[in-house]
Amino acid sequence: MAGISFRNVSKSYGKTVAVKNVSFDIRPGEFFCFFGPPLSGKSTILKLILGLERPDEGEVLIGGKPVNDISPAARNVAMVFQNLALFPHMSAGDNVRFPLVERKVPETKIAARVEAVAAKLHIAHLLHKPPAQLSGGERQRVAIARALVRDPVAYLMDDPISALDARLREETRVELKRIQGELGQTLIYVTHDQEEAMSVADRMAIMENGRIRQIGSPVEIYDRPASEYVARLLGAPVMNIMAAELNGNPGGGQHIAHGTIGISQEALPKTVTAVGIRPEDLKVEAWSDGRHGKPARVFEVEPLGGYTVVTIDTGNQKLRALMRGQPRVTPDSAVALSCDPAKMHFFGPAGEALAR
Ligand code: ADP
Ligand code: MG
Repeated sequence: MAGISFRNVSKSYGKTVAVKNVSFDIRPGEFFCFFGPPLSGKSTILKLILGLERPDEGEVLIGGKPVNDISPAARNVAMVFQNLALFPHMSAGDNVRFPLVERKVPETKIAARVEAVAAKLHIAHLLHKPPAQLSGGERQRVAIARALVRDPVAYLMDDPISALDARLREETRVELKRIQGELGQTLIYVTHDQEEAMSVADRMAIMENGRIRQIGSPVEIYDRPASEYVARLLGAPVMNIMAAELNGNPGGGQHIAHGTIGISQEALPKTVTAVGIRPEDLKVEAWSDGRHGKPARVFEVEPLGGYTVVTIDTGNQKLRALMRGQPRVTPDSAVALSCDPAKMHFFGPAGEALAR
């Protein structure tokens, strides 16, 4: 088990910059996610760790040692291929044995190693079955066992469960989190699915155009996104972002969102250009006469059972509120919007988050 670090690593393919000046420290035993949209450089980072690509600049370290000149085999980092990639014509056991058979390891050693790994992953009773007879979670355990027999210092997974249907994906990711916890191994996981990254990662790196924009625990990043870009990537529905144009109001205080959300001038940082409010932090109440500011109008109500997504028209923008249960809000009714200033996010001219 080892930590993995990049120091100012860059990699281009011709004129395409795949990874630009990337630095991070993944701790030994950590479940670390790279999360970002397609083409943001996630797979290239994995290839640089594996040694399939060489950095143009910068240094890759495994267990604190520079490995730029070390071959992929000698780095001993394992790629776990998605669980669907198990050989269907082989039993689970033969799938697990395969990497050792391929390396011509003596049979007695193979048997002992497979037994040890199967015990660790609680799959001894499944080894005789073909992959088709296993559940999604079981297939995942077998796929990980196949990587584990080599005893690598870290595991990499590249968007492993994106091809699965929603329910199977949920099952597999819960299982994966459990397995990683039990094994205590360094796992580096690439995904373009925000929910997946949030649910499994100890920490994650948010990628944009080959650059890392923020590193932290999912909760840290969700609560304190470093920029508008990061804020929009995490959370569904996405964060409401409004221009910070203040409308003077003789009743006292200031308003944003076309006069529909009140905020005191003192609460706003000087250079603020945009204000963000997460849908779950936007408070929606029936409009009553005598309130300051202006009413907004309910545009659409989507009851989803446990919660309801309400789309609200402020007059120049649509905002979304996430409400618990099935609140009594009807389309076209007038509503009062508010938000605790402590829950607001403030962004500057370059989209950077501002200190409050
Ligand atoms: P992601 O995994 O986040 O989708 P990649 O790391 O695969 O992103 O790609 C990052 C950028 O590098 C993209 O613009 C992609 O087209 C480019 N790229 C990746 N691999 C190659 C390659 N072998 N040859 C040329 N361009 C590549
Ligand atoms: Mg990729």
